[in-house]
Amino acid sequence: MCGIVGYIGNKDAYPILINGLKRLEYRGYDSAGVALLNGGINVYKKQGKVADLETHIADRNVSGTIGIGHTRWATHGEPNDSNAHPHRSMDGKFVLIHNGIIENYGKLKQTLEEHGFTFTSDTDTEVLANLISYIYNEGEMSVEMAVRYALKKVIGAYGLVVFSTEEPDKLIAARKGSPLVIGVGKGEYFLAYDATPIVEHTNSVIYLNDDDLAV
Ligand code: GLU
Repeated sequence: MCGIVGYIGNKDAYPILINGLKRLEYRGYDSAGVALLNGGINVYKKQGKVADLETHIADRNVSGTIGIGHTRWATHGEPNDSNAHPHRSMDGKFVLIHNGIIENYGKLKQTLEEHGFTFTSDTDTEVLANLISYIYNEGEMSVEMAVRYALKKVIGAYGLVVFSTEEPDKLIAARKGSPLVIGVGKGEYFLAYDATPIVEHTNSVIYLNDDDLAV
């Protein structure tokens, strides 16, 4: 379990995400990544330190006022660029960061493969991104409901944030057995593994309870 940050508001998200990830560096990690809404959802990720990620994307477009960032401590799949988070569903509609372990990911992955899904990483997290996508596309429902249904099928621990091209003005955060904190600013919200990346922005902090989901 490592670090999560998220931002939705009217400021540039990228510096907030990068500084937030640096504040969570004390937790240790093997790779880092961010996703930013700018037309579509751009995903950048890299094995190594947050500083390596910054160098990797120094000449890329990192504008956008909604975004998520992650530092990974590998549990499923070795530390490398493709196993780093965020993970995108095969149809590109869902982007996910996750702390924790999906214990039944093998069974879920097998079922998804039987429905034609393919995977670009060895992680349990990418399975969840595709499970959300499968449920969303089958069920004609909101992104929030697709996430809720998918989490009902998951055994394990998670703190996660979902970002979707289908409803791009939202971030969906959920937790079970892994902490997640929301910071409430003026017309803006912050998300993080703990309050460390949030307190410089706002004093208004909400600790999500186990099994909570926030949109
Ligand atoms: N189980 C996930 C992975 O291996 C998340 C690890 C973490 O909590 O950083 O990618």
